[in-house]
Amino acid sequence: MDLTTTRNVLRSTAEKMVASEPELTRLDQVIGDGDHGLGMQRGFAAVVTLLDGDSCNPQDIGALLLQVGTRMMSSMGGASGAIFGTLFRAGGKAIAGEANLTTPVLSRFLTEGLNAVFQRGGAKPGDKTMVDALAAAAEKAQALGNTSLEKALPEIAAAAQEGAERTKDMVAVFGRSKTLGERSLGHVDPGAVSMSLILVFMAEGLV
Ligand code: ADP
Ligand code: MG
Ligand code: MG
Repeated sequence: MDLTTTRNVLRSTAEKMVASEPELTRLDQVIGDGDHGLGMQRGFAAVVTLLDGDSCNPQDIGALLLQVGTRMMSSMGGASGAIFGTLFRAGGKAIAGEANLTTPVLSRFLTEGLNAVFQRGGAKPGDKTMVDALAAAAEKAQALGNTSLEKALPEIAAAAQEGAERTKDMVAVFGRSKTLGERSLGHVDPGAVSMSLILVFMAEGLV
C-alpha cells in the first residue's frame, strides 16, 4: 500500500472513528468517566483536518503516521490522547523511510508502538486496557510474516477484536475504571475497543 493509498485509508478510518463516538461513550460510561468517545471524536476529527490540509506533506509512511500521532496527542486529551498518540508517534518513528505499508512494516509499527505504550503507561497484557487489543494485533502481525497486507489486515483486526473481547474477563488496574475493581468484570475496556476499531476500519478501507 503506497503513501497516497495509506493516507486515504487513514482518512476513512479517522472518519469512522469520529462516527463511533456514541458506542465508545457508552462503553466508558459503564466502566470509566464517559469521556472516551468524545476524546476519540475530537482526536480523529483533528486527524481528518490534518490529512485534508495542504501542509501535511510527509515523504514516507513513517512520517505520515508520526504526524497523525502528534495531532492525536495534541487534540484527544485524557489517558487515550497520550496512549494512542504514543502508539502512532513511536510506531511511525520505527518505520521511518518506508515507502509502502506492507505486513512486515505494519508489524514493526505495532510492536514498537506497543513497547512505547508500555514504557509510557506501564500497562501489560491482562491489565484491561487497549494494550490487550494492541498486543494481540502485534502478535498476529508477526506470525503472518510476509503475507500480503490485503490478506493480513483483516486477520490482524480480528485478533485485536478478540483481544478487546477478552478484556471482559479482566479486572481493571489502570485508569479510571481501576476504582471499580471487580465491578469492571463483564464489561469490555473502551480503549481496547477503539484499538480494534482502528484496525477493523483500516481493513475495510483496503478493500
Ligand atoms: P481517561 O481514562 O483519562 O478518561 P479515556 O477515557 O479517553 O481517558 O481513555 C481510557 C482508556 O485509556 C482505557 O479504556 C484504556 O484502554 C486506556 N488506558 C488508560 N490507562 C492506560 C495505560 N496505562 N496504558 C494503556 N492504556 C491505558
Ligand atoms: Mg474516560
Ligand atoms: Mg477522563
